[in-house]
Amino acid sequence: APNAHLFFRRGQIDIENSCHDEFFDSIEEFPVSVPEFNNALCNGCGFCKTVCKFNAITMILAKPLFFPELCHSCEACFRVCSMGAITAANKMIGKIRRKKINGELDLVDGIMNVSEAKSPPLIKKIIKKYSGPAVTIIDAPPGTSCPMVAAAYSADYVILVTEPTPFGLSDLKLAVNAMRELKVRFGVVINKYDGDFGEVKTWCESEKIDIIGIIPFELKIAQVYSGGGIIADELPHTRALFSKLFERAVSEAVK
Ligand code: SF4
Ligand code: SF4
Repeated sequence: APNAHLFFRRGQIDIENSCHDEFFDSIEEFPVSVPEFNNALCNGCGFCKTVCKFNAITMILAKPLFFPELCHSCEACFRVCSMGAITAANKMIGKIRRKKINGELDLVDGIMNVSEAKSPPLIKKIIKKYSGPAVTIIDAPPGTSCPMVAAAYSADYVILVTEPTPFGLSDLKLAVNAMRELKVRFGVVINKYDGDFGEVKTWCESEKIDIIGIIPFELKIAQVYSGGGIIADELPHTRALFSKLFERAVSEAVK
């Protein structure tokens, strides 16, 4: 996530400058492969268009016309071209930034270049490169689109955070379906719970889904969070809740 640095203590990192490149120990550019066409070698067979499931190639006057914005770098077109008319070119779509915190924690984030929309390759690269035997917390984007799936598909355990509203329940159902499709184990946390709209709880119970935590609706929590504070530090009564949540998630992940 591009804002995970906000969840460290002020004494641990220089929060005010933590979104700038200078804050990080290392930065690497992240390229993806995109096809480069040599029309002189192309025989107009159209196989590259047919194999592209993302409609990134069309044929005009028996020659391929490429739409880079739609390309997902699956490399299928490279493989079907028997004429050698397609070669792989690198396209920089973002960067990966890494910072060691207190000599023990690795903070890694991925930033997309302006106008680049497809983050899954960057997310997958970060997870593959930086997940290890230690506990790795991946902050996934909301919803059930490709970036969320890319972040969750290789996880040992996923925490689905929802809210007690009709909108929250609708999104939760989609996310649960996605996790079941991916065969990834998961539990639910209900955030901002004020006792209203019990349907989320009822639905989870009817689906035999574990509710592993309930975060109460509290103005102070919102105030601390929006001020860049650590909730568990500034509101000690929440510490046990977050500790239990962490311990439960870790114990589920190693099962
Ligand atoms: S597969 Fe190769 S030869 Fe066929 S249309 Fe595409 S680029 Fe041309
Ligand atoms: S690399 Fe994949 S997505 Fe991109 S143009 Fe080729 S077939 Fe389509």
